[in-house]
Amino acid sequence: MVAKRRYRTSMNISRLLLAIFLSATASLAGNDELKERLQPALDAITPDGLLAHIKVLASDEFEGRSPGTKGEDLSVTYIADQFKRIGLKPGNPDGTYTQEVPLAGIKSEPRMSFAISGKTMDLKYADDFVASSARLQPEIKIEKSDVVFVGYGVVAPEYGWDDYKNVDVRGKTLLMLIGDPPVPDPKDPSKLDNKMFKGKAMTYYGRWTYKYEIAAQKGAAAAIIIHETEPAAYPWQVVKSSWAKENFELDNPNKNMDAVSARCWITLDVARRLLADCGQNFDGVKKSAVTKDFQPVTLNAKANIEIKQQIRSFKSHNVVGNLEGSDSKLRDEYIIYTAHWDHLGRHPELQGDQIFNGAIDNASGVASVIELAVAFTKINPPPKRSVLFMATTAEEAGLLGAKFYAEHPLYPLNKTLADINLDSMNV
Ligand SMILES: [Zn+2]
Repeated sequence: MVAKRRYRTSMNISRLLLAIFLSATASLAGNDELKERLQPALDAITPDGLLAHIKVLASDEFEGRSPGTKGEDLSVTYIADQFKRIGLKPGNPDGTYTQEVPLAGIKSEPRMSFAISGKTMDLKYADDFVASSARLQPEIKIEKSDVVFVGYGVVAPEYGWDDYKNVDVRGKTLLMLIGDPPVPDPKDPSKLDNKMFKGKAMTYYGRWTYKYEIAAQKGAAAAIIIHETEPAAYPWQVVKSSWAKENFELDNPNKNMDAVSARCWITLDVARRLLADCGQNFDGVKKSAVTKDFQPVTLNAKANIEIKQQIRSFKSHNVVGNLEGSDSKLRDEYIIYTAHWDHLGRHPELQGDQIFNGAIDNASGVASVIELAVAFTKINPPPKRSVLFMATTAEEAGLLGAKFYAEHPLYPLNKTLADINLDSMNV
């Protein structure tokens, strides 16, 4: 059954890839002669070809492809070998198929409590809260920091939205709601206003990465996100298990000292208790946060957060192959096809099967990038512009490989016309 399903999946992927391939060459589609020239490329994309890569990358031997493990070595070698076999040139101008990405793996031991009018509210790690830091320091300590509820924590000038209203939050601990402000449609309050934060869709303002970034920009000491299953679209269990294991950060020269010191999540239940103990009502303040008139609420509470961190620095890798353009002028322009090679690795605390194989997310995307590379080499004459094929690292930890590439591009970004990213193909 599994094999059958896998086959059907790779059939679907191959159909989708044909569509991607045709759209990349759409201007040629009307011309019979050119269509004929493309046929060998289209024929090169097959379910068997895709499945072969997925089987290897998602095998137990690759241990779930976590950065900085044996799974990374195997994945990087496999993908680079495929690029070589296909006849791509090394994608790194230094003559290799890889770009080194300095990463730090961090295991944290956090503690958190609130002091509320002489009483201490101690939180239980993992059940009540999680906390981590992107700062590469062995210890983070925040003491007696004022707690300010800042609604959704959003500054969005294009929507005339500012949850801070010039309140100075430097050194303070921000308490925030997850997601975009769900602003009701004035004409039909049962629906969301499509003109505000794209209605039902999630904008970048709704993501946790944004919440921690704006907290850093505002000079806050810590940001605490209140978890709610519905707007987050995943249960507390996911928050708990994804932050309670080893996490990865870019190992930047500044050791990420520009990031907010502490990134925390608390459960809805803890948030309700905290607000009640401060003489506030969670539902009330939440309601006030979906209007432009919202004012930050300073709570009668001080936050104490301590995070001990075990840090290991290592080099991870993006894998890059280059199909050089055939036109001497346009060769300096690039189109990139990307897919992240990493997945969640292995969790030794689990009983039985401990490996997260990640066949769909994202062995399927990597297989697709490899097979697209094969297809592109069959076009005769070859494309005028250069096409880069790239498998990026540490996507699961916050798009770190892609972020590193954007900050340290191998080819000028102003000559990079497009990136088409493939993740979890058509299933
Ligand atoms: Zn993915």
